[in-house]
Amino acid sequence: MAEALVLRFRADRTPEMRDLAAATLLDFSTSAIHEISDEEWRVFLRDPAEQARAAEALRSWCDVTTLSVDDEDWARRSQQDLKAVTVGRVIVAPPWDLPRSDHLDRDDGHTIVIEPSMGFGTAHHATTRLCLRALQQIDLGGKLVLDVGTGSGVLAIAAAVLGAARVVAVDNDPDALAAARENVQRNGVSVELLLVDLRQAMLERADVVVANLTGALLQRSAAILSALARGGVLIVSGLLDEEVPAVREVFAPHSSHVAHDHESGWSSLTLTIP
Ligand code: SAH
Repeated sequence: MAEALVLRFRADRTPEMRDLAAATLLDFSTSAIHEISDEEWRVFLRDPAEQARAAEALRSWCDVTTLSVDDEDWARRSQQDLKAVTVGRVIVAPPWDLPRSDHLDRDDGHTIVIEPSMGFGTAHHATTRLCLRALQQIDLGGKLVLDVGTGSGVLAIAAAVLGAARVVAVDNDPDALAAARENVQRNGVSVELLLVDLRQAMLERADVVVANLTGALLQRSAAILSALARGGVLIVSGLLDEEVPAVREVFAPHSSHVAHDHESGWSSLTLTIP
């Protein structure tokens, strides 16, 4: 018997509330989110002791009830519904939905295998896709890339397969870093992984910095992130469309050019840092 949280979103406010609920779930050890419909999600937590706290935090965005599910294997099976996602020349695939080999052999295409349930970043979230898109608009050949908040490692692995000379990836969550390490090995690429907090570490400057965090953290970290990307490009995402003006404003003194992209209520900015 497994216990799921049932989240019901009000139809008139769903897109934003869903995103906020997803962001809230990042603070908990979520093992599976099953999207029954736009209005209803079922969420499994890896640690049942966290359930009451998660339910309380989620109540700001939706109605929360619990449901006993008569199947221990439910979470794993619901994950298996996840399919590969294609973003430009990159396919992000779970191990059970690898593209056919003729697809894999395309000269310009790259397949990355990411085990869902391990760290945020399967490309099923718009912000990951925005970053993957932005990375492909830059020639990464010979570049040093820094991935801040690597989660599953997806962006770091993408940078490596897209030709970066060196990739450094950091996260302050040990579970995310362990997931990233496994995914890096699985993909046979070279990524230097560091367990550090962006705001406390002395990180090396990079040619391209990608940071898929939150609007609030980006605003607090604008000076650090801009210094890390000095003379290069900084891609930031994880911000809601309505947070764009505030985030642009804090980065304005540090950047000479800004390109804005967005998908499903989420935004990314690609900043040129002189
Ligand atoms: N890069 C992945 C994951 C983004 S989720 C993707 O694009 O899909 C954001 C990640 O940032 C989480 O794994 C979280 O643990 C990490 N993070 C949050 N605050 C951080 C901080 N202050 N320093 C380092 N990593 C941080």
